[in-house]
Amino acid sequence: MNIILFGPPGAGKGTQAKKLQNEYNIPHLSTGDIFRAAIKNETPLGVKVKSILDSGELVPDQTVVDLVADELHKEKYQYGYILDGFPRTVVQAKAFDAFLDKNDDNLDAFISLSVPENELIKRILSRGEGRTDDTEEKIRTRLNVYRKETEPVIKHYKKQDKVQEIDGSGTIDEIFERIKAALS
Ligand code: AMP
Repeated sequence: MNIILFGPPGAGKGTQAKKLQNEYNIPHLSTGDIFRAAIKNETPLGVKVKSILDSGELVPDQTVVDLVADELHKEKYQYGYILDGFPRTVVQAKAFDAFLDKNDDNLDAFISLSVPENELIKRILSRGEGRTDDTEEKIRTRLNVYRKETEPVIKHYKKQDKVQEIDGSGTIDEIFERIKAALS
């Protein structure tokens, strides 16, 4: 099963993706986690993207698309995956469609978590993960980028009739139950 878990920053994608990974035994791929690990380990990729992540802007599409294509060719993803944080632009979504086509594969579900904006800011500020992009100013940048660049991705998948909108407010378990019901 190939799933995209979609939503604005602070919607709980990472938390829910980890729970889905345990429930369905499908690996979770977070592009943000890959970038943060690369920055921590000071790899060439990390050096290239550090200032971008710090600013709250997006890494160039080609860099992300190449990274995801490389990653998804690993054996652990052969029976499916949960994407978290990708695709984040329509260009990335189209590249991902082409990737699936080329590999004779398809997308099973696009789960879109919706959460009111004031709740998103509160959640990010209180999660205390120590991320350099979790300051109020950077969160506003990330939300603006989300509205401008990322939200149009929903329309792209609506055209394919794939979008399932999930209410992303409430407890972690309540949201998880809604996602499971949507997937069943
Ligand atoms: P996240 O952990 O998903 O919130 O991602 C953290 C940061 O990594 C974002 O603010 C972007 O700078 C970068 N990033 C992660 N995924 C992508 C993507 N698919 N396209 C572009 N930039 C990304």
